[in-house]
Amino acid sequence: MTPVEKTFEPATCRHCDGEGCLYCNKTGTVLVIAPKSLCHHCDGVGCIYCGFTGWTGPKSKCD
Ligand SMILES: [Zn+2]
Ligand SMILES: [Zn+2]
Repeated sequence: MTPVEKTFEPATCRHCDGEGCLYCNKTGTVLVIAPKSLCHHCDGVGCIYCGFTGWTGPKSKCD
């Protein structure tokens, strides 16, 4: 098995639209798995699957 390297890129937190909130650690930005894509569970609105960031694979949730 070849280990899959995960690449992350910054995305504007959809929960607060970049203003800073609990889910983005008050930075307004979250690191998500690249290429970033909106969470298909909630279409970017925010749900438990995306850690309420609106993005697929937020880094904070993985670590
Ligand atoms: Zn936020
Ligand atoms: Zn979601």
